[in-house]
Amino acid sequence: MHSAPDQERSVCGFCHRPVSRELYECVDTRGSRWKWAVCDLCGAHSLVPRPSDADLAKAYDTAYYGESETKFVGWSERFIEWCRKGRAKRLSQSLKSGARVLDLGCGNGGFLSAMAGMGSYDLHGVELKGGSATRALGRKGIHIKVGTLEQDDFEPGCLDLVTLFHVFEHLVDPGNTLEMIHRAMHRDARLVMSFPNIDSFQARLFRGDWLHLDPPRHLFLLPGNSFRRGMESYGFDVVAKRFFSVEQNPFGLIQSMLNAMGLPRDLLYERLKGNGHYASHHGGGSILMQKAFAGICLFPAIVIDAIESLMGKSATVEYTLIKRPLAR
Ligand SMILES: [Zn+2]
Repeated sequence: MHSAPDQERSVCGFCHRPVSRELYECVDTRGSRWKWAVCDLCGAHSLVPRPSDADLAKAYDTAYYGESETKFVGWSERFIEWCRKGRAKRLSQSLKSGARVLDLGCGNGGFLSAMAGMGSYDLHGVELKGGSATRALGRKGIHIKVGTLEQDDFEPGCLDLVTLFHVFEHLVDPGNTLEMIHRAMHRDARLVMSFPNIDSFQARLFRGDWLHLDPPRHLFLLPGNSFRRGMESYGFDVVAKRFFSVEQNPFGLIQSMLNAMGLPRDLLYERLKGNGHYASHHGGGSILMQKAFAGICLFPAIVIDAIESLMGKSATVEYTLIKRPLAR
């Protein structure tokens, strides 16, 4: 397959029309250079040029989910597990027994497994082929489809809760996915989506060095107002927002600071994911120093996240949406 010329690929990741203005450069962990640009029509910030299929295949190879079974290693995986349980508990509180749940981009199925422990639900996940999907398939009490969401996967109106945790910004055709989700949701269902907050202080301060740009896997990020408008056009209304995330935001600050100091991009993050290949190119001493730096900064970073969250400027955001009744 040949890739399209860069000009053809300078399109908005959300609405697929040409981008209006380039903002800044960013470099991925393989050293490839990208730009982030803004679309004046829908307001999305997008990675340009649009990554080719080959770029994405490389970016999602085994290194993405780490070389071990879990995405993260040791204490960091246990911490993520604890956060997932908290999220499952929170979201299960408004679900009736027997509710049907879809976690799109379910990774290794950890969230669905946590949901299984919270009550009697009909739990479904969709995940692209790879180590994570294999692990999800091995979990009891959940149904996993390996691949992408397709129109016939769910009957219209059958889903009570749909979740996309840090998945939306990875979607190659977000409009099509939103249409399928809308169709499959019950009229009283909720859609919960979290993703990096491009309105955040971290995004503005660190620009191309911001951890949560995650080039080239994150294709677009929508500012709050653009998200609200964009989702309305697909038939959803935002009913709640949540900013504080001890799982995502403090570490985002620490890793972005390390990136801005000129250290290899996302090195500590890759190391925590068990990406020994990337980390082996750089000395062990440097990793130890970075871990020590992270240890010192962790508590202040959590306090900063709490303050940023009060202002709606924290590094990630979680939205709850409902299906807007169709106008006649
Ligand atoms: Zn656009």
